[in-house]
Formats: sequence, C-alpha cells, structure tokens
Amino acid sequence: MRDDPILPPARNLIGGAWLPAASGCEMAMISPIDGRPFAAIADSGPKDVDAAIRAARAAFEGDWGRLTAAERGRLMLRLALRIEAEAEALAQLETRDNGKPVAQSRADMAALARYFEYYGGAADKLHGEVIPFLNGYDVTALREPHGVTGHIIPWNYPVQIFGRSVGAALAMGNATVTKPAEDACLTILRIGELAAETGFPPGAINIVTGRGEVAGRALSEHPGVDFISFTGSPQVGQAIQIAAARNHIPCTLELGGKSPQIVFEDADLEAAAPVIVGAIVQNGGQTCSAGSRVLIQRGIWDRLTAMLAERFRAVEAGPAEGALLGPLISARQKARVERYVAEAAAPLIARGGVAADASAAGFYVAPALFGPVDPQSPLAQEEIFGPVLAAIPFDTEAEAVAIANGTEYGLVAGIWTRDGDRQARLARAMRCGQVFINGYGAGGGIELPFGGVRKSGHGREKGFAALYEFSRLKTVVHRFA
Ligand code: NAD
Repeated sequence: MRDDPILPPARNLIGGAWLPAASGCEMAMISPIDGRPFAAIADSGPKDVDAAIRAARAAFEGDWGRLTAAERGRLMLRLALRIEAEAEALAQLETRDNGKPVAQSRADMAALARYFEYYGGAADKLHGEVIPFLNGYDVTALREPHGVTGHIIPWNYPVQIFGRSVGAALAMGNATVTKPAEDACLTILRIGELAAETGFPPGAINIVTGRGEVAGRALSEHPGVDFISFTGSPQVGQAIQIAAARNHIPCTLELGGKSPQIVFEDADLEAAAPVIVGAIVQNGGQTCSAGSRVLIQRGIWDRLTAMLAERFRAVEAGPAEGALLGPLISARQKARVERYVAEAAAPLIARGGVAADASAAGFYVAPALFGPVDPQSPLAQEEIFGPVLAAIPFDTEAEAVAIANGTEYGLVAGIWTRDGDRQARLARAMRCGQVFINGYGAGGGIELPFGGVRKSGHGREKGFAALYEFSRLKTVVHRFA
C-alpha cells in the first residue's frame, strides 16, 4: 500500500476504514529539515468531514458507546503500551514531519503514552453525584459524555495535544473526530492505525486531514458535533467560538501566549538563566506557553542579560538529534520570525547561530535576545512563535505585575524570587492560567490543569479538569412513596 513503511497512508481514518478524500485530492508534506516534499496526505473537504462525524455518531450509539468505563480505560491503557513499544519509530516519523530534534520527539511520545495511561486510568474514576433534596426524593446527577467531539490540532506539539484532548474525550466516552494540522499530522495518522490494532471499535477515533479553512472549518461548523476542542491561533479560535455559538455547543479554546518570566534581585540567577533560555528556545519557540518575555529587576539587569547572552550565543539551530533548537515548521514561519528580528526597535543583545550541517533549504533561524524592549512594542506584545526573547527592565513589584499582565494574553507566568510572601502575592496577581515559582515547565505536566484567560483562550485541558470539560451533568429527580 505504501513504499516507506514508516509513513502512514495518505488517507483519512473514518469508521475504521482508510479512505482517500472524496475529491481524490492529496497535498504534499514538506520536511522542515530540507524543505523537500516527502509524503502526502488527503486534502479533505466537507464530504469527508461529514462521513467522519456520521461514523463517530454511529460508534457513540453503537459498540463504543456500549463499553463500560472500565473497558474504555483498559483499551486506552493498551494503546499507551503500544505507543511506548513503538515510541522510537513514532519519534523518527515526528521529526521527519515536524522537524523538531529527535530528543524532543521522544519526549512527545513519552507524553502521549502518559496521556493515554493517565486518562485510561481515570476513565472509571469520575462519577456523578447524589444530591440531598426534599424528603421522598432521590436526586442524582449523572455524568455523561457530550457525544461526538471535534478536535482541531496545531502542528507544534501534534501528539501531545492529541493525547490531552482526544485522550480525555475518549475517557469520558465521547466518539472523536480529529482534524490535525496540515503542516504536521503523520504521527497522528499512525496512532490511528495503532488504536485500530489495539481494538478500539471503528468510529471511536476518526482522523480527517486537510486544510484548516476547508476541513477544519467544515468540522467546526457541522451541526452533528456536540463539543469542539480547539488548540491554535487566537484568530482561528475566535472563528471556532462563533461557529460553536451558532450550533449552541460548548468549546474549549487553547490559544496563544506572551508569557512573562519575572526575575527579582534576590533570585537564584544560576538556576534561572538556563531555564529562561530553554523556555524560549525549546521547540524553536513554537510553544504556546513559551516564556517569550523576561522581566528583569533593574539591579540585576547587567548581570542577568550577560548570562542570558552567553547562552544565546552558544545555541546553534541544527538537525542534530540532541540539538536544543531545530528548524521552524515552514518557510512562512521562518520568514515571519526573521521579519520580527529585522524590524525590532530594540537593541539586539545577542544572537545564536545556525549549525554548519544544517541544510540551507531547511527552515532554521538563529535565536535572538533583545533588550531593553519597550513593553508596548510589537516585540513585547505580539506572539512571534519563534526563538526570540524580549528582555524588559522594571524597578518595583507593582511595575512588574503591570507589565506582566499588560498584554492581551494570559497563559503562563514564571516568578523567580526567594521571598515567600512575594511568591504568594505574585501567584495571585498574575492574570493567567498557570504560574511557576522558581522554575518554568512550559505548559508542563500531564496532571496539571492548563489553559488561558482572554486571548489565550478558555477552558482547561490536562489533568482531571479536562474530564469535566469533556462531560456534562444530567440531574435526575426521583420522587418515591
Ligand atoms: P492555526 O490556528 O493556524 O491552526 C490550528 C489548527 O486549526 C490547524 O489544524 C488548522 O488547520 C486549523 N484551522 C486553520 N484555519 C481554520 C479555520 N478557519 N477553521 C477551522 N480550523 C482551522 O494555528 P497554528 O499556526 O497551527 O498554531 C499556532 C498557534 O497555536 C499559536 O498561536 C500557538 O500559541 C497556539 N497553540 C496553543 C496551545 C495551547 O495549549 N494554548 C498549544 C499549541 C499551540
């Protein structure tokens, strides 16, 4: 069926069958490592999406919906083991598709297996409630799945986001339709194959590839979907929410960020410096929760910027397995990041390099550190989605809070100080969904609820919190004699 066994078929997974797009159209996948096409996917349209939603509905009302919570959980645990067993091949595929250093792809596969383990284990742990009411009444609140859930996924962490969103939805008994990103979706297709081999009933997991404005839009607007989980840009997120409103359905939006790390004069700078660099360089800065602003108290400005500069200069973007920085996802993304660097109004403090073995046709960008950056300038306000860090000086705690909260985003914040009172004050003062104190795990932790406020989105995924999003309560009032 295919020449290269590592590549999944250029087909959609619909109701357990691998089907080409109804139009017969395909689109080429370009490797970020050398800019060359190396695979193809189905370029799907509304007909394919409609077929996937019908297959999901049939599964929900059929074999998948009839499974007990324990049976669903067991299937998910089996899939977790299967992913672990295939992790190396999956990681190699992810690196070809997405370009990220293979060490990062391995970490993504470990996280994916862990999501299925975590949510598989949770499938039979969340139940309804018995509510005290009047005498002669039993009131129960049943926890039920929504039905058919749609999952629209970006290219930066395809499998992690598939794991956290589809994993939680399956645990609660929903049947799913995923539209992965057109820039990186091969690994998700391969996981669809593994799920089928593991014994998931046909239609529980459907995957339809294609363009966002065609296949993604068709999924978000389809009246047969009961819930939409979207991870991606704020602009598309807004369109998703409007479509959800038209269909009167709930949605979660996991959008962008401009997350700050605030470093006070009493902080452990030796501990902070490598974490600050890692938080913007990891995955090429193409991380929603990248720490893209560092707020530095004036008294340590010279020392900390010098420490960061040294580390930035040492980073080389390249194809090596353990490289800290690989290529960006596309020529478009590379051009966008280079434009921000060229148009920056702030002084360039340091720039890293591009490794000698990096293909000139690959989408490599050297990391850049700017400062002092005006907190109102584009460099400090806009999500660049590249390895570009804006350093901003501040004097007082109040000023730091105002700058940190002074963007339209609110996803993650990092606070570096030894002062316990200040740690507690700042954790409360940050207008965002996740705060790290004396550390920064970008988006970190399968078990930790994650999500944003305002332009960073709403709803929480990861952890147990996601199980509440992917289910709803039905109150049953029983009057007895
Ligand atoms: P994007 O919004 O362009 O695409 C995301 C997904 O939406 C893709 O599958 C795409 O095909 C689809 N899409 C595009 N247009 C659509 C439309 N009109 N209707 C329906 N679907 C459509 O985002 P991107 O550039 O792929 O990803 C980068 C963005 O994602 C950044 O803003 C980043 O911060 C955000 N992100 C957020 C999180 C989080 O958890 N908060 C995680 C990763 C990425």
